[in-house]
Amino acid sequence: MKNYQGIPGSEGIAVGKALVYLNDPFTLPSEKINSNEVPKELQRFMAAVEDVRTILKENTDRITKEIGAEEAEIFEAHLSVLDDPEVVDNAAALIKEQLLPAPTAMWQTAQDIANEFAQIGDDYLSARSADILDVSELVVRELTGEKRVSLARLNEPCILVGKDITPSETASMDKKNVLAMVCEMGSRTSHAVILSRSLGIPAVVGVTGLCEAVRNGMVMIVDGAEGKIVLEPDEETLAIAQKSQTEDTAQKQLLKNAAKKPAITLDGSRVMVEGNIGYPADTDMVLENGGDGIGLFRSEFFYMDSNDFPTEELQYQGYRQAVEKMGDKQVIVRTMDIGGDKKLPYFEMEPELNPFLGYRALRICLDRSDVFKPQLRALLRASAHGNLAIMLPMVSCIEEIEASKRLLEECKEELRQEGKPFREDIPLGIMIEIPSIALQARDAAKLVNFFSIGTNDLLQYSLAADRMNQKVARLYNPFHPGVLRLIAQVIYDAHAEGIPVGMCGEMAGDVLSVPLLLGLGLDHFSMSATAIPKIKNLICGLKSEECRQLATQVLAQPTGKQAEGVVKAWLSTRGHI
Ligand code: PEP
Ligand code: MG
Repeated sequence: MKNYQGIPGSEGIAVGKALVYLNDPFTLPSEKINSNEVPKELQRFMAAVEDVRTILKENTDRITKEIGAEEAEIFEAHLSVLDDPEVVDNAAALIKEQLLPAPTAMWQTAQDIANEFAQIGDDYLSARSADILDVSELVVRELTGEKRVSLARLNEPCILVGKDITPSETASMDKKNVLAMVCEMGSRTSHAVILSRSLGIPAVVGVTGLCEAVRNGMVMIVDGAEGKIVLEPDEETLAIAQKSQTEDTAQKQLLKNAAKKPAITLDGSRVMVEGNIGYPADTDMVLENGGDGIGLFRSEFFYMDSNDFPTEELQYQGYRQAVEKMGDKQVIVRTMDIGGDKKLPYFEMEPELNPFLGYRALRICLDRSDVFKPQLRALLRASAHGNLAIMLPMVSCIEEIEASKRLLEECKEELRQEGKPFREDIPLGIMIEIPSIALQARDAAKLVNFFSIGTNDLLQYSLAADRMNQKVARLYNPFHPGVLRLIAQVIYDAHAEGIPVGMCGEMAGDVLSVPLLLGLGLDHFSMSATAIPKIKNLICGLKSEECRQLATQVLAQPTGKQAEGVVKAWLSTRGHI
């Protein structure tokens, strides 16, 4: 028996036999072609591109039918690789100018782009370079005839183990026979992992050294929530895993069914439990999991998926789609939050020593009304079709709220002149993620309709602990008394001014934090769609008055460890953990 620890990808426990999925490397011709062969080679190249386009279109259709439009967007991204002049034209140029055979030209182009992106070290660009390599490999294999081993028909249920399983492989695989997926590479946000979550297939990524140890047919246990793998378990471990697998499946289904009902505490308080999304189509998952609305629509994904700033019209269509899908449930769209770790390939930003403290989000928007106004106009226009609210990220001072409100008024006036409908009293809120504005919550609350606490950033700014840096992860503690008192004050001040407060940082979806936040009076909890059923279920078992007492006790603790200890003991005596 051997244990491995990876990164949790998609929740769920699977027990089964391994199928090691390692594709043979393809071979690239090294000889150059003759100049008179160029037209034929170009023709062959374009034909292969078209064949791959057909395969990708089939994948898109299949995924749209089997899972949904949102997941199919990954293949739209793949298709766009074939439309990207930097990819196809550059490869064609290498055939024409350097007389490289088509497969070699294609692969060299893909690698050049991937290397360039890798040097920038940005999450979005590394996902894009994975797409480019994935699609280019399909073209190369089409040209060399060394097709990939197919996962489309598997003889028996198995746990797929590979170095990396690409989105196209995930899409084309025989899903009913895949019990779980385990990869040596990847992160929680890699496309294949996103797909596995949507398919409900447990997944663990980043399991170093696994491929060397595992052989076809070996029995293994995969725990997607914990990121744990057990290879060749002993009988006792196997029996325990099989039991938790059965319980896990039954429990998830029960929670999902129960989540269709509103979250009401035992003493009758209704609590709003909402979803965080990045794309309009993500609304499906939120509704399926019983979400009461969208507490955070991270609009910057629109900007990241484009070759240029998205037009007002494109954004309008996207926001409209989201609000129409949600019916009368509220959709809070956060305006562009670019900068920090999120870069745009088409918007050059000067290198900064401290990007998280630099030129980002609202700071860019207030500087560039040519970028901000199209988004505000698109949001206003979409507000005519549903329950939409606008939220400003990274607010640090009152002047930023005032300047944003002036721009919003300008956009409203333009739309009135143009006769375009919008909701006059569209709610405007701000994210509380910078300590300076948290400490001025009372002043800010007079200017807006709601707050949403962004703990992901609020923690890093309050504790001076980079949210991406593993080395300071132990300092990044949501139970730090300083952070808790800041949150308590924000909720108190907002309520004193008569506005509601939500939370859309990771803390809102954490079982340990929910009773405490409820006790502090938080009105809305927003989280990833899959966390909604669990949190709704927890809320239904709590009493508001008891949560208030808990909050008073926790706030009096001098250390994060003690505060967390009080919460854990409280939850444990009530059987919630
Ligand atoms: C936050 O900072 O808590 C938040 C929700 O925003 P993001 O994670 O997108 O920075
Ligand atoms: Mg943030």
